[in-house]
Amino acid sequence: MENSLQKYIDRAEIEQRVKAMAQNIAADYREETPVMVGVLKGAVVFMADLIRKVEIPVELDFIAVSSYGASTSTSGIVRILKDLDQNIEGREVIIVEDIIDTGLTLQYLKETLYQRKPKGLRLAALLDKPERRQVNIEADYVGLNIPDKFVVGYGLDFNEKHRNLPDIYLME
Ligand code: 5GP
Repeated sequence: MENSLQKYIDRAEIEQRVKAMAQNIAADYREETPVMVGVLKGAVVFMADLIRKVEIPVELDFIAVSSYGASTSTSGIVRILKDLDQNIEGREVIIVEDIIDTGLTLQYLKETLYQRKPKGLRLAALLDKPERRQVNIEADYVGLNIPDKFVVGYGLDFNEKHRNLPDIYLME
C-alpha cells in the first residue's frame, strides 16, 4: 500500500525560514569565513538554499554518517561513512542538519568534530522535534519546531524517496 502524503510546510514558508536563518548566520560571522558542514544526504537541499542566502563568504564540506544496526535510536552509536575533506582546526564550523529528532546524531557529530579543535562549532537545523529529544542538545539556528510526526520532502526521505519534493509533507 502507498503511504499517503499530506502537505505540511509550503515552499514559501520554508524559504522565509531559511532566509531568516541565513541572516542570523551572516550577522554572527561578520569577521569569519565559516566552514559549513552538510550532513548527507538529508541536508543537501536545505544547505543549497541556505548558502545562497548567507551574504558572507563561506566554505562547504560534507560528512556522511550511518548508525549501527537496529539499536540506532537508543545507542547513539554512529559511524562516519564519508569524512570531511578539510582540516577544521582553528576554523569556525557550522554543522548543517535537516532535522533534530532524538539528538543522538548531532551529539555524536559535535563530540567528534570538537576533538579536531575548531575555533567554534555551531549547529543549524531546518526542523526540530523537541518532544523526541533523548540528549541535551540544542541547535544554534532552527528553522521550525514540529511535533513528533514523520516528515518527508525538501531533502528528507523515506527509504530514499521523496527527497526531491519542494515542499515538506507529513507521511501517514
Ligand atoms: P536523531 O539522531 O536526532 O534522532 O536523528 C536525526 C536523523 O533522523 C535526521 O538527520 C533524519 O535523517 C532522521 N529523521 C528524524 N526524523 C525524521 C523525519 O521526520 N523524517 C525523515 N525523513 N527523517 C527523519
